Amino acid sequence: MRNDYSKEVFLLKITDIKFKIATFKFVEPFKIAFAVMEGYDTLVVKIETDEGIVGYGEAAPMGFVTGDNLELAMAIGKEYREMLIGKNPLAIGHIHAVMDSKYLHNTSIKAAIDIACYDIAAKKMGVPLYQFLGGDYPVVESDVTIGIGTPEHMAKKSKEWVEKGFNILKIKLGEDIETDLKRMKLIREAVGNDVTLRIDANQGWSVKDAIRISKELENIGVDLIEQPIVHWDLEGLAEIKRAVNIPIAADESCQLPVDASKLARLRAVDGMNIKLMKCGGIYNAIKINAIAEAANIFCMIGCMGESVIANAAGMHVAAALANIKKVDLDVTFYTKSDWILGGFTREGGVCTLLDQPGIGVSVEGF
Ligand code: MG
Repeated sequence: MRNDYSKEVFLLKITDIKFKIATFKFVEPFKIAFAVMEGYDTLVVKIETDEGIVGYGEAAPMGFVTGDNLELAMAIGKEYREMLIGKNPLAIGHIHAVMDSKYLHNTSIKAAIDIACYDIAAKKMGVPLYQFLGGDYPVVESDVTIGIGTPEHMAKKSKEWVEKGFNILKIKLGEDIETDLKRMKLIREAVGNDVTLRIDANQGWSVKDAIRISKELENIGVDLIEQPIVHWDLEGLAEIKRAVNIPIAADESCQLPVDASKLARLRAVDGMNIKLMKCGGIYNAIKINAIAEAANIFCMIGCMGESVIANAAGMHVAAALANIKKVDLDVTFYTKSDWILGGFTREGGVCTLLDQPGIGVSVEGF
């Protein structure tokens, strides 16, 4: 059912969808429990409309988490282009139904198109995206991530980031628990007691290891432990959650809203880490957050290797949804683009979204 007023005010038409690859390099290689990364490429998506409003989105696939890659995202994006030209980008549920009708999963290209549609919608309303999503305050505080290295190196890096004004560190662990414990002891010594430390084990521990190390970590002071064990063992997560006092959060175990629903039913976690690339964009991020909130589970929001397009989009979502209590959107703190600009300003980990319609990102030469 569509009323006349909606036709006038809320109907736009997609006239074209364009793609361009962006390349980023880390200053130093970044190691987590199951991978080492030197840098990354992303697929920037531009959606044009009949009113001249243009929206930007981005696919940042990470094969070992999202199951797709850049070539696949591009190929499917081109198929979606044919299916979506002429469609209304403001009818976001319909856009997702069209994309889901053709391919299961492949969430990074769905996220790219979704983000671009939300950018268009907020621009059409003339407000920043966080306001379009119901928020009223443009500031979020992100952690910064310390990759895996020797305990001494990680402690040194941690201290450096704290000296640069960061209050929250996310420590990558997930190797043997003796070394992991040593890492945390040295880091806590190096940064003092006022800095919040959270842990991401990236599936690296067993259930028994996770429970053993968590007991020790309670004395060190840890904000949360993310994805201690393999992603498919939800009962194992529940076992850990029941046994330890530190909040347990799902990342790789929580991709789509259906995963959030399973985790909530099993009371398997205290928190869920939403990533736009895992869930297919803002539309599903809102659903995951609602499922979590209804089950008394907090959300955090994280990122993949992405530019300020997806990174700032995540910040807008965090700024708008009160149940997103923790923000892990730090990847653009280490990488820069000379053609994808804006999004937010930053002091330490405190990020302030720009007061511009949409995501607030300017993309030059595309
Ligand atoms: Mg993680």
